[in-house]
Amino acid sequence: MTASGTPTSTRKGTLRDVLTGFEKEGAALGHFNVADLVLLKAVVAAAAETKFPLLIGASEGEREFFGTRQLAAVVESLRQESDLPVFLNADHTHSLAKAMEAANAGFDSVGVDFSALPFDQNVARTKETVQAIKAVDSAILAEGEIGDIGTGSEIKETAQGGKLTTPEEARQFVEATGIDILAPAVGNMHGMLESMVQGKAKKHLNIERIAQIKQTASVFLTLHGGSGTDDEDFRKAIAAGINIIHINTELRVAWRESLGESLARDPNEVVPYKILRPVVDSVKQVVSSRLRLFHGEAVSPGAVASVA
Ligand SMILES: [Zn+2]
Repeated sequence: MTASGTPTSTRKGTLRDVLTGFEKEGAALGHFNVADLVLLKAVVAAAAETKFPLLIGASEGEREFFGTRQLAAVVESLRQESDLPVFLNADHTHSLAKAMEAANAGFDSVGVDFSALPFDQNVARTKETVQAIKAVDSAILAEGEIGDIGTGSEIKETAQGGKLTTPEEARQFVEATGIDILAPAVGNMHGMLESMVQGKAKKHLNIERIAQIKQTASVFLTLHGGSGTDDEDFRKAIAAGINIIHINTELRVAWRESLGESLARDPNEVVPYKILRPVVDSVKQVVSSRLRLFHGEAVSPGAVASVA
């Protein structure tokens, strides 16, 4: 047990160690959101299949549905059983109270998100929250966000976001807040357009801006809204300094479509684990495919689109 009373994790190495190692290898850590046990089982199965460490993410809404402490307990239980290097992030946390709740529950990192506020207020609220969660456990990594990348990992009619983070504001923000990880706006956006779900269009990133921000800010960089991004852009973004890549909408699309197919297959089937097993498999395929890409392995074209 730590001083705060949270259970000491059984995993080997810290999240910081994994990120530092990946940076040297030219790889990025995949971050996959979960809202229920089906998604969590799929993400952990992908970690077992590929042997790659990963981050399990849950936003405030996802944590509310799963239960913050319950999610931390299930992840810890899975880690104990499998010895897999899976870590847990409190994604898009918009208040000090929610950040403390996650820190006290044993999360490895907290994504502090006051990016909707003006820059000065974002700095002040982020700094206050970083100090509070580090007081719970100094090993918890704190992420801060600047810029506009839209909200909600959903299917959208029009693109959101737009204003890119500048290297200078990235430097100021990192220095003023003490964050370990910065989430910039570099052409990424939350959610996917229908054309992206169909595989007809891809998101593109501003690789030059990523490299400039990496140089001035000198912290780990995380890319939100990775779903639907061009594979080649991912490779270049990792080479330019991206350390963590968030994928959520692609998982949700695979979850929804495979659940619909599974239910339609036999209208008389009422056994939950028979209905849900193919859903776990479909989501796992998306996660495994993304993990392989983030580690520079060749991925067959359309591996994600085919299950989405
Ligand atoms: Zn996000």
